[in-house]
Amino acid sequence: MKQNGATKVTFYHSPQIPLELHKVRIVQKLHLKPVDERVEAIKKGGFNTFLLNTEDIFLDMLTDSGTNAMSDNQLSSMMHADDAYAGSQSYYRLEKAVQEIFGTRYFLPVHQGRAAENIISQVFIKKGDVIPMNYHFTTTKAHMELNGGAVHEIFADEALKIKSTHPFKGNIDAEKFNSLINQYGAEKIPFVRFEASTNLIGGQPFSLANMKMVKSIADAHNIMIVLDASLIGENAWFIKQREPEYANATIKDILNEMCSLADIIYFSSRKLSSTRGGGICTHSKDLYLKMRDLIPLYEGFLTYGGISVREIEAMAVGFYETTDETVINQSPSFVAYAVDELDKLGIPVITPAGALGCHVDAMGFLPHIPQAEYPAGALAAALFIASGCRGMERGTISSVRDENGDDLLADMELLRLAFPRRVFTLSQTMFLIDRIKWLFDNRDLVGGLRFVEEPPVLRFFMGRLEPVSDWPEKLAEKFKSDFGDSL
Ligand SMILES: *Cc1c(COP(=O)(O)O)cnc(C)c1O
Repeated sequence: MKQNGATKVTFYHSPQIPLELHKVRIVQKLHLKPVDERVEAIKKGGFNTFLLNTEDIFLDMLTDSGTNAMSDNQLSSMMHADDAYAGSQSYYRLEKAVQEIFGTRYFLPVHQGRAAENIISQVFIKKGDVIPMNYHFTTTKAHMELNGGAVHEIFADEALKIKSTHPFKGNIDAEKFNSLINQYGAEKIPFVRFEASTNLIGGQPFSLANMKMVKSIADAHNIMIVLDASLIGENAWFIKQREPEYANATIKDILNEMCSLADIIYFSSRKLSSTRGGGICTHSKDLYLKMRDLIPLYEGFLTYGGISVREIEAMAVGFYETTDETVINQSPSFVAYAVDELDKLGIPVITPAGALGCHVDAMGFLPHIPQAEYPAGALAAALFIASGCRGMERGTISSVRDENGDDLLADMELLRLAFPRRVFTLSQTMFLIDRIKWLFDNRDLVGGLRFVEEPPVLRFFMGRLEPVSDWPEKLAEKFKSDFGDSL
């Protein structure tokens, strides 16, 4: 069966197997170190997986940011980059790609996604403003609060259910949006923010029907829509899979329609189309001019925005590749495989499977660890000890403290295992699943963590923790008694 140039392959006997429609031509050697060295490495890294050195890591599933595999076409495009401070042809190729894929007229390059958040927040958010959104992202919230705004998450209640069959857990709840407008007044709401494939709640998409409904409310009150498009390719792919009206639409048409509903679209190209860079797009000259002058101030001249021209070329090619289903379905289909297999083993994971990674529910996995002892952080450290695989804590460590210095407990305690596009193989994925199963069967051995060094802003990046007992050594002992001298 042909779909928009992509061939849909159906297996006869093993329907769950994700099939790669690419081949590997450049490889990087990996190391799997013995369990005692893994314990030493996580100690040295302050039980924070951000502080590990990749020489100690087997599968690096920390993030999809800047780690997707590049295509041969992206790499070769970098060779004809045009080095120029101003007016580089590379920039104009990128501008054309963005205009074509997003359908927007104006484009501003920035060095990465959070730089776009800085500029949008500085220009549009005043002290006392309220910004409704489906869910926050860490850097988004930090920039909005720095400019005096308050983030209000108005997701549908289903969004935080671990086990669900809801196809669009990233939807905005229209009633909550209306009551927020009534409570604060539209003049306090500069924009409503949609995040594509909502990162922190499991890569969950929103539907186009939902976006249209929210736009009709926003339009009635003159509130702008800002779309965080960092993971828009996957969200568009889920729309095609799960929203019947779009089953026969092309990904490009879906992307165009999503962007036509937003006033401002911004993205991190570290996820979307390359390994660096970002951008802000709009249909409106007025909005463009409001943001434009901050680009040379914070990023660089308008035709490079802090990005190297080689990366700009790769971004442009990546934009076109994002419309290819065999490219954008690669990460979600591996995520779906891992989620289904873990679910079958009785391991608590977020369902339905979303974009960018498999999300293990740490409170379900480690019910004996109180949230104040950071179960998701403990699970990330324990999985590293058990497998050499690095995931990311997305729970209370990634949250902040309130004015009294108490932890604001996160809605969910998740261990995110990212599947960067076209990076890992199926057998590596099966190894990961096998070690998670071992850890699940030995979960009583895992204990909590506490901070020993805690930075005041974005503490999850640089903070150092320690275990509340000698549980890492006990876990390693059990590993050695079960696996012998095997890694
Ligand atoms: C990664 C990400 C950002 C920030 O982008 P950077 O390039 O890391 O600065 C913003 N929003 C979302 C949804 C992201 O996933």
